[in-house]
Amino acid sequence: MNAPLHAPLNAQKHLHRVELNAKDYRDTVTSFWCPGCGHHGVLTALLRALSEVGVDPNFLVNVSGIGCSSRLPYFVKSYKMHTLHGRAGPVATGVQLARPDLAVVVTGGDGDGFSIGGGHMSHLARKNINMTYVLMDNHIYGLTKGQVSPTSRQEMVTSTTPYGGMEAPLDPVLYMLTYGASYVGQAFAGNVKLASQLIKEGMEHKGFAFINLLSHCPSFNDLDDAKYFKALCATEDNQHDTGDLDAAMHVVNKARREGREPTGLLYKALRPTLDQRMAELVEQVGGHKDYDLHQIIDLARP
Ligand code: SF4
Ligand code: MG
Repeated sequence: MNAPLHAPLNAQKHLHRVELNAKDYRDTVTSFWCPGCGHHGVLTALLRALSEVGVDPNFLVNVSGIGCSSRLPYFVKSYKMHTLHGRAGPVATGVQLARPDLAVVVTGGDGDGFSIGGGHMSHLARKNINMTYVLMDNHIYGLTKGQVSPTSRQEMVTSTTPYGGMEAPLDPVLYMLTYGASYVGQAFAGNVKLASQLIKEGMEHKGFAFINLLSHCPSFNDLDDAKYFKALCATEDNQHDTGDLDAAMHVVNKARREGREPTGLLYKALRPTLDQRMAELVEQVGGHKDYDLHQIIDLARP
């Protein structure tokens, strides 16, 4: 009978590294986001984080779904996968499991992640897929010109809610803590310093890192503008034990009661990732060709 799996907890995430400046990670495609869009801040923060981590662009995969935010991989020097609406997570999971040596970053919006792709988010977290997920949360569908999203405030008037919404918004941070994400942080997209720090630490974290960046959409969301998000994120929650899930939950609930957004690194813990457990299983079954997962994956290669 097989022994139970005990994947070693190694805090050091393996990444191929080089020395590059932030601007070296900027691809040549001109940005086609609206002037003043919060996503410009997210891109700046991501480029800075990539430089600080020193990720080799030849070993970096940026996966996205559909939406304004999902255009981000066009602007980053990396391998890029612009996939189907809501399906960035599962595609990125396949990339990460087939090539655990690659750095995998998902960038996408609130509608793409939590509505169309909502069924996938809990599984990325509970499986502890070794990737970084940056959610560009503007509380609206921007690309399709302003419809209510799963994170929209209930009172928001949009083209699909002319008298205001009827549904309570989803809380991405609490959701991810509940479903077992091993790294959770949040910041205002205009706070590039904090946003890049969270992305950097998320990229170096071994496990599923979820970073929610509140990113304003000046074209279709007048209610949640930059000033509003900035004020909500004015206080960084950095006094609690970030390794304590109860403490992280308490910080989030307390911030909500105070009418603000929980901000900064909220939770970080180490537990085995799915690729670690798979590698251990391959080793445990003795490399028999019928059980070699890498050979099975190779069968699907062109
Ligand atoms: Fe940004 Fe909104 Fe313009 Fe899309 S529609 S690019 S989210 S400002
Ligand atoms: Mg959106």
